[in-house]
Amino acid sequence: MTLSLTTAVTLHESIEMPQLGLGVFKSESGSEVEGAVATALELGYRHIDTATVYRNEEGVGNAVVASGIGRDEIFVTTKVMNIDQGYDSTLEAFDASLGRLGMEYVDLYLVHWPKPEHTHDTWRALEQLQADGRTRAIGVSNFLVHHLDQLAEHASVMPSINQIEFHPHLQSPELVAYCDELGIVVEAWSPLKHGQIVDDPELKTIADLHGVSVAQVVLRWMLQRGIVTIPKSVTPARIAQNADLYGFALSDGEVAAIDAMDRNERIGPHPDEIDF
Ligand code: NDP
Repeated sequence: MTLSLTTAVTLHESIEMPQLGLGVFKSESGSEVEGAVATALELGYRHIDTATVYRNEEGVGNAVVASGIGRDEIFVTTKVMNIDQGYDSTLEAFDASLGRLGMEYVDLYLVHWPKPEHTHDTWRALEQLQADGRTRAIGVSNFLVHHLDQLAEHASVMPSINQIEFHPHLQSPELVAYCDELGIVVEAWSPLKHGQIVDDPELKTIADLHGVSVAQVVLRWMLQRGIVTIPKSVTPARIAQNADLYGFALSDGEVAAIDAMDRNERIGPHPDEIDF
C-alpha cells in the first residue's frame, strides 16, 4: 500500500482515523497552540490530539474554526483526566471539553490513564457518549494488558484505540500483540521519545542512507507498522518535516532492525505507578 498524509486506519465503528496527527501536549494555550495547529492544517494534517489536562482545548478549537476546513474533515481527540473519572463526572467533563473546543462532537474520546477503581463507571460514560453520537469513537490510553482485561469484564464495546508511550526504545511487544488480537489500534505517544530519539546513532545511520532525519525514520517506521502516531512540535519547520514521510520507504530489514532496538526504556510514568 502506498502511504500518504491522508492514509487512515479503520476503527471498530468503520471510522477512518488519519494515521499521522499533531500532538499538542505542552503547546501553550493561546497563540502557541493556535499557531501549531494552523501550520499543521495548512500542511495537510487532519488529526489533532489534545486532552483536558493540556489546558489548550480552546486554542485547538479556535484554530480548527480559523482554518476554514470543514469540521468533518478533521479528526479531533481529547481525553478525560483522572480527577474527572467516574460516570457523572466524566459526562460533565466531556460537556466542558466540548464547550472549550467549541464543537458539537469529538472524533475520539479517551480515558487518559487507567484508574482501576473507576474504570467501569468511566467506560460506561464513554459508551453512553458514543451511543448519543457525541463522540464518534471511544478508547483508552496507557492501559496495560491487565487494565484491558478488567475493562472487558463489563464493557459492551471494547476500545478502538489504546494510546501508549511507544518509540523505538519502548515497544511493549506483548501489549501491542494483545491489542492486535483484540482489534484495538495502537497509537504512539511521545513517538520521538520527547525529542530524545534524534540522538540515537543507529537510527542516524538509517536516516543518512535515506537522506532524511531520525525523526522522519521513526515516524515512517510507525506508519509502516500500522501504528497511529502524533508527534508534537510548535516549530513550523519540524511540523513540516514530521509530515514529510512519503518520499522514501524503509526496507523490511530496516523495519526489523528498528524493531530490535527495544530497550523497555520509558520516559513517562508507568501506568501502574501513577500518583495523579
Ligand atoms: P514527542 O515524542 O512528540 O516529542 C516532542 C518534542 O520533540 C518537542 O520538544 C519537539 O520540540 C521535539 N521535536 C518535534 N519534532 C522534531 C523533529 N523533527 N526533530 C527534532 N525534534 C523534534 O513528545 P510528546 O510527549 O509531545 O508526545 C506527542 C504527543 O503525544 C503529545 O503532544 C500528546 O498529544 C500525546 N501524549 C499523550 C500522553 C498520554 O498519556 N496519552 C502522554 C504524552 C504525550 P518543539 O515543539 O520545540 O519543536
